[in-house]
Amino acid sequence: MRIMAQTAMVMALDKCIGCHTCSVTCKQAWTNRAGTEYVWFNNVETRPGQGYPRRYEDQERWKGGWELNSRGRLKLKAGGRLAKLFGIFASPVQPELNDYYEPWTYDYENLINAPAGNDFPVAKPKSLITGQDMKITWSANWDDNLGGSEQTGGQDPVLEKMRRDAEEKVKLEFDSTFMFYLPRICEHCLNPSCMASCPSGAIYKREEDGIVLVDQDRCRGWRQCITGCPYKKMYFNHRSGKAEKCTFCYPRIEVGIPTVCAETCVGRLRYIGIFLYDADRVTEAASVPNEQDLYEAQLDLMMDPNDPEVIAGARAEGIPEDWLDAARRSPVYALAKEMRVALPLHPEYRTMPMVWYVPPLSPIVDVLKEQGHDGEAAENLFGAIEALRIPVEYLAELFTAGDTDLVTAVLRKLAAMRAYMRNITLGDEPDERIAADVG
Ligand code: SF4
Ligand code: SF4
Repeated sequence: MRIMAQTAMVMALDKCIGCHTCSVTCKQAWTNRAGTEYVWFNNVETRPGQGYPRRYEDQERWKGGWELNSRGRLKLKAGGRLAKLFGIFASPVQPELNDYYEPWTYDYENLINAPAGNDFPVAKPKSLITGQDMKITWSANWDDNLGGSEQTGGQDPVLEKMRRDAEEKVKLEFDSTFMFYLPRICEHCLNPSCMASCPSGAIYKREEDGIVLVDQDRCRGWRQCITGCPYKKMYFNHRSGKAEKCTFCYPRIEVGIPTVCAETCVGRLRYIGIFLYDADRVTEAASVPNEQDLYEAQLDLMMDPNDPEVIAGARAEGIPEDWLDAARRSPVYALAKEMRVALPLHPEYRTMPMVWYVPPLSPIVDVLKEQGHDGEAAENLFGAIEALRIPVEYLAELFTAGDTDLVTAVLRKLAAMRAYMRNITLGDEPDERIAADVG
């Protein structure tokens, strides 16, 4: 047994409002440089949606080989615009520039200095890559308007006609849509495939806290890590010719302050903590045959920070006392292991990701209100799960390799906690049946 400490994060998705404060403050801190214009170490995805880079979850895409181009001709998968721009013509397979988005600025000169006239001056978008005017056809969160929600807003005359002709139909269509936000950073995986795929040995996982970093002096720009990371959280700096990634703000962590994204998060939804795990069992855990067993295998690696044997083992490995203390108070350990309400993103990628998510619950309340129920009252609690607006199957695809029972168990627990605490807040007796039912 080799006990090590891992830094990790839990994000409670019900609280994310998609404001991108985290993305912007991260960008100002880490990727506000030439060569990283298109790079967002922290991004916030619209769900359902294609993500950033788009279709990164389509793992078949990154397996290499050939694909059809827009004219129906065969081309090497890595022969796209980003590839050509950076001199890459063949392997490795990586997203193209348009899969991220072509970064742009605006022609502010025209906006500010245009002569007085009848028309309002416009600031045309200008590519930060080519310096030319450009037409924006894709960027992160493009999906915001693709979930059906545009049917309810704006001055669209077709929509207005639809409203008049079939108001109920439109309402029903809107009611069946759903949307939530998924903030993402590098997962600082226990079993990082970026590290395994680097031919230069430039990527390393820090012994003291598990943060995964790229040694800029050793990186030779092979870009195999970009192919190898299933979350596509490794980026290529086309100016320096090196790979870059989220650093978990290690200079801040080292002096005891949180990551920039966590500190500036408007929803206060990011919880940072450390936990102790058995490093000798990671490979075995990542290799369990059934994908739906990976969650339990991952939890099983987390060790009880109050167990005297674990403490002794950690001390023997040189883990300092203040880290052991932090492990005992860790919200990550509490939410993931003790309460079992936080789930890993795509555990089936088998990298043992270390960013955990409390799945979103709020749509239940909306639906129940429409039905004339009080969605947060204890007696409606378990019926509420049946009235979910976000399909359990969708959440299961993201967080449990398709295990809907597991997602349902987490949602029931969240609903129970909400009802239980609500009673206390209102000065009522908490309903003990709730605690008994969800355990
Ligand atoms: Fe590496 Fe990707 Fe895991 Fe981050 S998410 S540690 S870049 S494999
Ligand atoms: Fe969501 Fe917080 Fe980021 Fe805003 S700052 S998008 S609430 S994670």
